[in-house]
Amino acid sequence: MQYISTRGEAPTLEFDDVLLAGLASDGGLYLPESWPRFDAADIREMQGLEYPELAVRVMTPFLGGRIEPAAFAGIVEETFEGFMHSAVAPLKQLESDLWLMELFHGPTLAFKDYPMQLIGRLFDHVLARKGERVTIVGATSGDTGSAAIEACRDREAIDIFILYPHGRVSEVQQRQMTTVPASNVYCVAVEGTFDDCQDLVKAMFADAAFRETARLSAVNSINWARVAAQIVYYFHAAVSVGSPDRPVSFSVPTGNFGNVFAAYAAKACGLPIDQLIIGTNSNDILTRFFATGELSIGKVSQTISPSMDIQVSSNFERFLFDLYGRDGTALTEAMAAFRRDGTLTVGDNLHRSAADTISAHRLDDAETMAEMARTLQATGELIDPHTAIGVAAARQCRRGDAPVVAQAAAHPAKFPDAVEKSTGVRPQLPPHLSDLHDREERFTVLANDIETIKGFVRENITLQGAA
Ligand SMILES: *Cc1c(COP(=O)(O)O)cnc(C)c1O
Repeated sequence: MQYISTRGEAPTLEFDDVLLAGLASDGGLYLPESWPRFDAADIREMQGLEYPELAVRVMTPFLGGRIEPAAFAGIVEETFEGFMHSAVAPLKQLESDLWLMELFHGPTLAFKDYPMQLIGRLFDHVLARKGERVTIVGATSGDTGSAAIEACRDREAIDIFILYPHGRVSEVQQRQMTTVPASNVYCVAVEGTFDDCQDLVKAMFADAAFRETARLSAVNSINWARVAAQIVYYFHAAVSVGSPDRPVSFSVPTGNFGNVFAAYAAKACGLPIDQLIIGTNSNDILTRFFATGELSIGKVSQTISPSMDIQVSSNFERFLFDLYGRDGTALTEAMAAFRRDGTLTVGDNLHRSAADTISAHRLDDAETMAEMARTLQATGELIDPHTAIGVAAARQCRRGDAPVVAQAAAHPAKFPDAVEKSTGVRPQLPPHLSDLHDREERFTVLANDIETIKGFVRENITLQGAA
């Protein structure tokens, strides 16, 4: 299987090279040249499979033969063995035809563990085969950093540096990063904001010489392999509620559009999905786009669902690429205009097509808190703020009678203050993290200065061939 860039200029690549490349060299994002197809018989055969077996079935066409089948099956098996629930992504019924898919059973308690745990191992496998190493750098305002660290800790061919804003992440989020006792993990508390951290990472990538010597790589959500690994749980949930004989709808809380894009991809591969619903917080650029056909950037505001405090959703470019009929030139022009003017408007036909594909709903913090309280009262389930947004969007946007599967995107104990304030109940961390607040922290506070950061990376990486 070949992968093409949404900007139409970068060379086509195979799966293993897309995994290591992350972003395409023309600034675009990689996508399969054509979608693999699963027909009704293929999907019926998935019924009753364990999560790892189903993951192998769904992901194999995307690998294009570039990872040896037995090795891949072993990697997938090992990935999900460490999860806390034997069903990996169990479904819970909230009410008639409304289900909750629990995606917080990985080591850092958010859905990002599902793709990240797998791609950390895939990186190691591919790098060992090529005899190479990489240095992963990333900026985080919360969940991505800890998921990436847990996925890359102790991996032989990887050093990982995560930059976060000093004193501006929650205590649980910080400790999930800084208490990992692995010699290849570096937590950098930058004296600045999340945007500063992101700019520092971009500046490291923009320095071609540094990028080359340090062999920089990224595991953020523009990495195609991450999206591919997320397609799995949509198939898993759909067959559990009756696919292929019954269509199913999904409701997904959305920030960078990676998670819901995986649902879109599942549909493109033949999964009978009726509605795709997204929920946003008051950073509602996507909700406004589906209502008006105009993508116009606003100012990022802080909410109680911080993992969705995003204005420019990087993965939305993949959706726009399909909307523009996979015309890389047209998309490149549209993205340039968006960067220049802060707006991108699609014509009536494309707007109608987009709105037919995705329904969107926005919740502010007060509505999110009300949904947490309502769900606890009506169902006994304590849900986190991100989850609440998806559940409320499901209720608001559903039509017809296909069952709707919403997601428990994070464990409520990741956001204890917002949950307690909304419900009066303080959620407890699961046993493997119950001593989180007693563990020893390791992090380095550095100035918001690119040379300082680069110097720190240079001093600490294991150089090529030295391992
Ligand atoms: C990352 C994250 C989101 C947003 O997911 P996207 O793929 O960026 O749309 C929502 N909720 C939680 C809990 C997250 O960690």
